[in-house]
Amino acid sequence: MAREKKRTKQVGKKKQLTRARAKSKTPKKTKKKVLKKKILASHSRPSSAQPLRNLSQPAKPITAYDVVLHNFDIAAAKLQLSDELKQLIKTPDRELRVELPIIMDDGKLNTLIGYRVQHNNARGPNKGGIRYHPQVDLDEVRALSSLMTWKTAVVDIPFGGAKGGIAVDPGQLSQGELERLTRVFTQKIDCIIGPAEDIPAPDVNTNAQVMSWMMDQYSRRHGHTSAVVTGKPVELGGSAGREEATGRGVCIALREIAKFLKIDLKKTSIAIQGFGNVGSHTARILDEEFGAKVVAVSDVKGGVYNPRGIRFKGAMEHVAETGSVVGLKGAAKISNSELLELKCDVLIPAALGGQLHGKNADHVKAKLIIEAANGPTTYEADEIFAGRKIPVVPDIYANAGGVTVSYFEWAQNLQQFRWDYSRVVAELEKIMTKSFADVMKTAEKHNVTMRIGAYILALDRVAKATKLRGI
Ligand code: NAD
Repeated sequence: MAREKKRTKQVGKKKQLTRARAKSKTPKKTKKKVLKKKILASHSRPSSAQPLRNLSQPAKPITAYDVVLHNFDIAAAKLQLSDELKQLIKTPDRELRVELPIIMDDGKLNTLIGYRVQHNNARGPNKGGIRYHPQVDLDEVRALSSLMTWKTAVVDIPFGGAKGGIAVDPGQLSQGELERLTRVFTQKIDCIIGPAEDIPAPDVNTNAQVMSWMMDQYSRRHGHTSAVVTGKPVELGGSAGREEATGRGVCIALREIAKFLKIDLKKTSIAIQGFGNVGSHTARILDEEFGAKVVAVSDVKGGVYNPRGIRFKGAMEHVAETGSVVGLKGAAKISNSELLELKCDVLIPAALGGQLHGKNADHVKAKLIIEAANGPTTYEADEIFAGRKIPVVPDIYANAGGVTVSYFEWAQNLQQFRWDYSRVVAELEKIMTKSFADVMKTAEKHNVTMRIGAYILALDRVAKATKLRGI
C-alpha cells in the first residue's frame, strides 16, 4: 500500500516535471492554444471533495450547499489552506431562523418561516439578497450566502457574504399581505442588519418595492437609513443602473469570454432561461446593444423559440399583456427543459439553481454556458461539461454585476452623493473586465476551470483578510 502510494507520488512528480519542461519549450502561439484548452477542460478534484455519484446506487439528491462545499474544497486544496482555517472560513458565521406571523386579508393568521444567514464578513459587512420562494430552506440560504462571500471577493468589493429568504409563494399574496410580511421579517432580522453589519438586496421574487418597505421599517427604529438595503427605487436613494446591473454584468462576462474564444457575438444564437430581472435585462442588452440573436426565452410557465431571433421589445410587450413569454407571436412553444437542451451557441440559465445536473448535462448542445443564476450547475454537470469541453463562466463572476452596483449604491448612500448612469456603467465595466482577467489568470496558474479559478481567487482574498484581522 505504502509502496503503491510512493509510486503514485513519483509518477505524479514525473508528470509535473514533464509538464513544466514541455511548458518552457512550447512556442508562444501553441502556448496560448494549450492555455485555452486547459481553462476550458481541466477540472482536478482533491480527495476531500465529494465523490462523484456511483450510477449503480440510488442517488442522494445533491443540495445547493453540497455543490458550493465541493467547489470550496477543491479551491482550498489548491491553496493548501490549513484544516483550521478551512473550517473557519467555510462555516457560516451566523444563521437566524425567524417565525413570521401575518394577518391575511381574510382575517386569518398565517405563520411563515424566514431566514438570514451571514456567511463571512472578513472583507467587509455581510451582503446578499432576499428571496421569496416556496423552496427556500436553510440549506439553500446557506449555499447562497456562501456564494456571496466568494462573489464579493472575486470582484474585490469590500463586502462579505449573506443571504435571506422566506419560504412563501408571493404570487398567492395580495400587495398588503406582501408588505406586512416584509415588515415583520425586517423587524425580526433588525438585530443583525445595518449599513455596517449586513445589507440586504433584491433576489428572486423581491424587487425595489420590497426594498423600500425594508428600508422604511428599519428606519422607524434607527432613523432614516437608506444604506441598510440596496436595490431601492432611485427616488429613495437607489442607484442609477442598479436594476439592469446583473444583466449588464452577464453581458460583459459573455463579451469577454467571446473575445477570448474568438467568437463573433453577432453570429451567435443565445437561449436564456428565466425572464425576470436578470434574464430580461440580459436579453435586452444582447438584442439592443450587442446585436446578438436571442433565439429562446422562458419563465416559470414555459418557453418560446424562434430560430430567426426574438426581439426584446415584442417579448416585453407580450409579457406586460399576458404575464408570461408563453404564447409570443411567431415563436414556437417549448418547455424549460427543452430550452436547456436547445441547439444554440450560448446557454444562459437566469432562473433558479440546480437546473443543469447529471441527468441533462450530456444533452446540452450549447457550446458555452454563462451562469446568470446562482448555482445553476451541479458538480456532476460541471464534470460532464469539462469532459465535453464546454466552458462554463461561473455565477460568482458572471452575475456579480448586481452586487457591484449595490456597492456603488451603498457608497452613494453613505456619502449622500449621487452618481449618474454613465458613471455607474463605466465603473461596472472596469470591475467586470478586470475581474475576468483575474479569474482567467488564476485558472491558468492553477491549471483549473474558470469556476475553480474564481473560487481560488476569492478564497485566497478571504483567507488573507481573515489572517490579517486575527482570529
Ligand atoms: P426574478 O424573480 O426577477 O425572475 C426569476 C425568473 O425565473 C422569472 O422569469 C420566473 O418566472 C423564472 N422562473 C422561476 N421558476 C422557474 C422555473 N422553475 N423554471 C424556469 N423559470 C423559472 O429573479 P431574478 O432577480 O431575475 O433572479 C434570477 C436568478 O439570478 C436567481 O438565481 C438569482 O439568485 C440570480 N441573481 C439575481 C441578482 C439580482 O440582482 N436580482 C443578482 C445575482 C444573481
